[in-house]
Amino acid sequence: VLETEARTSSLRPASTSVKISNRERVIFPESQITKGQLADYYAAVAPIMLPWLGSRPMSMVRCPQGRAKKCFFQKHDAGSFGETVRQVGIAEKDGHEEPYLYVDTPEGLLTCVQMGTIEFHGWGARIEDVEKADRLVFDLDPDEGLDFENVRSAAFQFRDILKSIGLETFPMLTGGKGVHVIAPLVPKAEWHDVKDFAHRLAQAVAQADPAHFTAALPKAQRKGRIFVDYLRNQRGATAVMPYSARARDGAPVAAPVTWKEMEAIDKPSHFHVGDEKELIKRAASKALSGWGRADQVLPDL
Ligand code: ATP
Ligand code: MN
Ligand code: MN
Repeated sequence: VLETEARTSSLRPASTSVKISNRERVIFPESQITKGQLADYYAAVAPIMLPWLGSRPMSMVRCPQGRAKKCFFQKHDAGSFGETVRQVGIAEKDGHEEPYLYVDTPEGLLTCVQMGTIEFHGWGARIEDVEKADRLVFDLDPDEGLDFENVRSAAFQFRDILKSIGLETFPMLTGGKGVHVIAPLVPKAEWHDVKDFAHRLAQAVAQADPAHFTAALPKAQRKGRIFVDYLRNQRGATAVMPYSARARDGAPVAAPVTWKEMEAIDKPSHFHVGDEKELIKRAASKALSGWGRADQVLPDL
């Protein structure tokens, strides 16, 4: 009984002191979803989202006038977000430090939403040690015209390959066109090794199955194939975080799923803003409660 109580109380929507202005402003014209509804979504998922986004250098996609108007990717700020959106100095290639943003509370998260943020993207490392990756992500990007069936079987191929070298993985629907296959890591390996591993694995897969995969950057070489975007695994690169909304048609969200569920899922935009109750319930379920967690290190390749 105690355990259930503790669990449900920690999964109540966050009530914060953040004032959301223009709650009636339509942010997603196709589905008439407003800024207020988006803020309510994020308040609800804050407890299940912050374990992933929290304390990670982040980038945001901001669309202050809604997703149909001007949107921009933002990773630095001079202080306009206030104190709940925190800053961490990170050395750039030339050695000088730049302040990166992170949140670690529902207030920080909601402040970003108040400032017009729709999407939250995070580094593959946490602020405690930004030089050590705590996740690998294989971002499977289908060429135009490929249906989700192809993405799904590609995801299973990656699961099997990574499993065979000792890495457990977890699938995430991006809410866009593809799937991210994520291998959590104990933060030990440096970026150079992580990127090298991801690059070599992507190349090996593309060489073994060139009809379905490519790891080549030029778009022309992606025709009819799935591009294995291994570049998510380099220092400073970001990936969309679990439960982030997407600035796309219909207000889809990035959603963790189980491999079992993947067998039957028909599109990467399966969950949307408005599904927060279901997402919270799912996150507490036995099948998903261990999602994204595994004590494992980068294997030799
Ligand atoms: P989809 O399933 O549609 O591919 P996605 O989130 O994987 O969705 P990608 O276009 O593959 O989208 O991008 C992968 C990641 O690259 C994003 O999650 C984001 O973190 C990062 N990214 C995308 N656009 C930019 C940008 N303009 N500047 C910096 N990083 C970006
Ligand atoms: Mn992608
Ligand atoms: Mn990509």
